[in-house]
Amino acid sequence: MFSFEDYKEIIKYAKDKGNCMGYHEALGKDEFTIMRHDVEYSVERAYELSKVELEMDFTSTFFFQLTNNSYNVLSRKNMAMIREMHKEGQTIGLHYALNGLTDMDIIRKEIVRDIGIMSEMLGFEINTFSIHRPIKEVLAENIKLPGIINAYQDDFFTFGENITDETPVDVKYMSDANHIWRYGYPTEANIKNNKKVQILTHPFAWTPEGYDNMDNYKSLIEEKESELIDSIDGECKDFKEYREYFVDKAIYRGF
Ligand SMILES: [Zn+2]
Repeated sequence: MFSFEDYKEIIKYAKDKGNCMGYHEALGKDEFTIMRHDVEYSVERAYELSKVELEMDFTSTFFFQLTNNSYNVLSRKNMAMIREMHKEGQTIGLHYALNGLTDMDIIRKEIVRDIGIMSEMLGFEINTFSIHRPIKEVLAENIKLPGIINAYQDDFFTFGENITDETPVDVKYMSDANHIWRYGYPTEANIKNNKKVQILTHPFAWTPEGYDNMDNYKSLIEEKESELIDSIDGECKDFKEYREYFVDKAIYRGF
């Protein structure tokens, strides 16, 4: 259910509907289909999923965290991948983590600050954000900032408590959080029969093979180990003599 082939099916349904667009273009429209990606753990996986989209002549919005503990969005390698995605037509946004904050004024200021940092470092304007694990108070706040779009603002997301996939809503929202499509799977019917649609996927969950949750975590951990081995190898000349040991331990996958 989480293979690239499965993802291509979803893109096909979205493209067939004929109203796919980004957040800024969709603002004020009566109908739209927005594809969004919140990037956790791995910039590489976002980059790979972007390639799948580009092969199908499709683009979407990828939100990256600035304060993530598993990847550094400002590393040279990651910035190169993100710049390339942007150059190829993908929209890049901030995936803002609350990190325990609840004060709405501070949250608003931090979002503007972080968007400024990311824009300056990446070298292009960022003007869209989504919130990582939003608490309901932040969703209810419906944050709107001048010139900046919130993926959860009421134009793109219908906030309500106890919403299920049966609840009538203005915007049909489908998300793959924790390998579960809680508000319905983006089937052809779910995409076509709703005027306003927002689909959220987490690129770390999607692979060429399409693993279940457990095997997906395994493959992700292997990739991150490989990344660390490469990082140490790139920094320390004497690591080469140990490298074989780690590679032979079969924890090295390489990518
Ligand atoms: Zn998130």
